[in-house]
Amino acid sequence: MSKTYIDKNGYRRFSSSHKLVHRWVARKTFGRRALGRKQVHHIDGNKLNNNPDNLKIVSRYEHEKIHGLPHKRDCFIATAAYGTPFATEINILRTWRDSELSNHIIGRMFIRSYYVTSPPFARLIEKNNELKRLVRWILAPLINYLNSKIKPR
Ligand SMILES: [Zn+2]
Repeated sequence: MSKTYIDKNGYRRFSSSHKLVHRWVARKTFGRRALGRKQVHHIDGNKLNNNPDNLKIVSRYEHEKIHGLPHKRDCFIATAAYGTPFATEINILRTWRDSELSNHIIGRMFIRSYYVTSPPFARLIEKNNELKRLVRWILAPLINYLNSKIKPR
């Protein structure tokens, strides 16, 4: 039995390779070709239930539909920077957008222009690991601040 750990997004990874266990199980179960660059969905919603019966290979589009993401427009840049729309950091940004930003006229103007201008940047970031790191570094203080507001200690 290989050693594993749970990453900060709640997924199990192998300690040796840092690879995601559910992707490994899906590849073994359905084959490398079926998996390709597609995503793996946990049918019961439990990210740690990596039983083959609980895993389903889905396209990114299908996956976002399952999780109800395309209806609420997403943080493209943050999604590109964190490599997944399910990162804790992005949830914090979404909460901020829906609870505070959208209550002010300037905030709404910002949100509207963001969704027009950000997709080309997001595509650029997606392909470049240095840019991903840079964007995460720029977002970190905002996320830390928002996080401390949500969970006062
Ligand atoms: Zn899923």
